Amino acid sequence: MVEEYLNFIGGKWGKSKSNKTFENRNPADTSDLVGTFQLSSQDDVDAAVTAAQAAYPGWRDTPAPERADYMYSVANKLRERKEEIAKLMTREMGKVLAETRGDVQEGIDTADFAAGEGRHMHGQTVPSELRSKACYVIHQPMGVWGLITPWNFPVAIPTWKTFPAITTGNTIVIKPATYTPACTAKLMEILDEAGIPKGVINYVTGTGGVVGERLINHPDVKGISFTGSSEVGKRIAEVTGKTLKRCSLELGGKNGQIVMNDANLELALDGALWGAFGTTGQRCTATSRIIVQEGVHDEFLAELVNRAKQIKIGNGLDESVQMGPLVSEAQLKTVESYVQIGIDEGAALVVGGHRLTGGDFDKGFFHEPTIFDQVTPNMRIAQEEIFGPVLSVITVKDLKEAIEVLNGTVYGLSSSIYTQDVNAAMRAIERIEAGITYVNGPTIGAECHLPFGGVKETGNGHREGGWTAYEIFTEMKTVYIDYSGKLQRAQIDNK
Ligand code: NAD
Repeated sequence: MVEEYLNFIGGKWGKSKSNKTFENRNPADTSDLVGTFQLSSQDDVDAAVTAAQAAYPGWRDTPAPERADYMYSVANKLRERKEEIAKLMTREMGKVLAETRGDVQEGIDTADFAAGEGRHMHGQTVPSELRSKACYVIHQPMGVWGLITPWNFPVAIPTWKTFPAITTGNTIVIKPATYTPACTAKLMEILDEAGIPKGVINYVTGTGGVVGERLINHPDVKGISFTGSSEVGKRIAEVTGKTLKRCSLELGGKNGQIVMNDANLELALDGALWGAFGTTGQRCTATSRIIVQEGVHDEFLAELVNRAKQIKIGNGLDESVQMGPLVSEAQLKTVESYVQIGIDEGAALVVGGHRLTGGDFDKGFFHEPTIFDQVTPNMRIAQEEIFGPVLSVITVKDLKEAIEVLNGTVYGLSSSIYTQDVNAAMRAIERIEAGITYVNGPTIGAECHLPFGGVKETGNGHREGGWTAYEIFTEMKTVYIDYSGKLQRAQIDNK
């Protein structure tokens, strides 16, 4: 029996008013139907926003530590169901079990962090320039938030948004990506079982064009938190800009790993392989460019190619598999088209480059780990986000050129440098234009209690993750209390 998943609105699971559903299949084996989901209409979004609005005053007035207390229970329930949800995630979007367990773990960590953060929610208290006057800042909730998520971190990203949004006193309507609605449904189940009051969390599945568009245009939605492509992010910025609605955008990347002549090459190889081919290259922080200093290029490339050939590819439910499929036929076609673009541009294809076929590979969307050498910085494969297992190797003379190349794209999410020279590392930290820089570590591997996000076309300056997420979902209020008993004019009476 295939499960039909429902929307969750006002504390009740129910069908869409459209009476339509869509299917979600396992990208490693398309004969495996994960479930059917509501193909929701604008009316469903409106009902969810109404429910979220109705729940808002009661939730806003609940003390923050009490709101955060629910997060202990959410973390524990996620812990208990970690294995079940990880397996569902692997079936739903293909990444291997070790990674889907990590994805759920990130949700657990985010819940633990939120549980404590509800007792912080610091504002600042500062002295006044006047006598008998107090000044401080508080963070207040805003109302209904629309959360729109991508498919590559089906539990972690919804938790990054949902937990700080509700811990700070907002109510939410979440729309997951159409490839991964089942994992988000499980998260809603857990939040509901933890006792979160009805209407605080609402979940509506369907397309970006219908559900997403209604959410971003809805006049009663006070803020949008979006993670996804830069293309859709720009559309969201345009729509929300018309009414100056708060919007937090976490978008694409074209991350580079610099390998200097003095690098520990073993470490740099481990980092490059994990960064480029983990999650089949479908991470916003994936390493898609290796920027290698000429002195170690040949040695580094030879071993990189050798190890890429040994990666075991297959269905991620098999514990021995290291790299799963692409999420969809469309994503596989995108990868194939970029391989052709690389060849046409004159880059040297040194390993991979093909869709995998035959046997179980025919059931899904598998592609070889692929490496291009002799890539020049302006080639499209060095500039555009591919979102697949394709790595471009660019050779440079020195650190200055390495940093120039690394910075030479429209994106600025993650970055990395492998060197034993502390001075070179410090210069790189100063000059690299990115939201995240790793020294002697790969471009992937963010931890949930630190700010996460990027510069340039990777976002609009917000940082989801860590304590900064708690600022995104709140309005700041500056409070002045004058207990002098007289009119005191700032800048006038005290000068
Ligand atoms: P996507 O932009 O295609 O879709 C993201 C979400 O937006 C989905 O839920 C989709 O249905 C919705 N959507 C699409 N059109 C919409 C519209 N007009 N209005 C409102 N919502 C709409 O991205 P994707 O393919 O799901 O994910 C891959 C992308 O996400 C990559 O570019 C990747 O770099 C990026 N990403 C970024 C981060 C980050 O934190 N910076 C993290 C993960 C993924």
